[in-house]
Amino acid sequence: MHMIYKRILLKLSGESLMGGRAYGIDEVRLGEYAKQIKEISDQGIQIGIVIGGGNIFRGLAGAAKGFDRVKGDQMGMLATVINSLALSSALEAFGVEADVLTAVRMEPVGTYYSPSRAAELLRDGHVVLMAGGTGNPFFTTDTAAALRGIEIGADVLLKGTRVDGIYTADPEKDPTAVKFDEITFDEIYSRNLRVMDLTATTMCKENNLPLVVFDMDTPGNLKRVLSGENIGTRVTL
Ligand code: UDP
Repeated sequence: MHMIYKRILLKLSGESLMGGRAYGIDEVRLGEYAKQIKEISDQGIQIGIVIGGGNIFRGLAGAAKGFDRVKGDQMGMLATVINSLALSSALEAFGVEADVLTAVRMEPVGTYYSPSRAAELLRDGHVVLMAGGTGNPFFTTDTAAALRGIEIGADVLLKGTRVDGIYTADPEKDPTAVKFDEITFDEIYSRNLRVMDLTATTMCKENNLPLVVFDMDTPGNLKRVLSGENIGTRVTL
């Protein structure tokens, strides 16, 4: 099967790892994701992954409850390491070689991230999980995904969500919302669409990293996006 991208950066939200639960990691959902990732890894796609941590802790939500914001963000970043370890172990259970690289040093939990180390592992056919966000508070994992995608020279940033693309309004709240097949970064600003935070969007725009938002919770969709099927929404300059 012909694949339209060779090297991708896949962003998964922490929340989606909850599956039907209220907190933490659902092993069924984890297994479904690992299976989809294996499918495209078997096709020779080079895969970098950034996972969020919202299923465990978010710095902003913590601050609202009285946590120090910087410490809360550090907790959130550690949550992304937990999620990355979980997905790497699910991938390994499927026979996929997967490595966790961390934005801050924490051997032996993961190897310290560098773009060259990530590229080397990708060339060797390993799935590379880039954990710990950007390593800095006040950023999001969407921004980490944009940054890592640019650093490793990914062809595209794939944002897997539970919604099947970008809509004129939140489709879970507004039944009249209409989906875009394609949209530009500038339209995201002008229409005030909440696709990613502005820092992440701007990084993609300024570095010409295309973004595809798609529904990752439907099995087989990751492969469909890579084979060029018109699912999700593609964002370009
Ligand atoms: N975070 C951070 N710096 C980063 C990335 C993440 O401080 O570079 C923290 C932040 O507190 C955030 C949490 O990690 O709330 C989890 O990430 P995010 O909210 O992006 O996860 P998602 O919404 O994708 O599950």
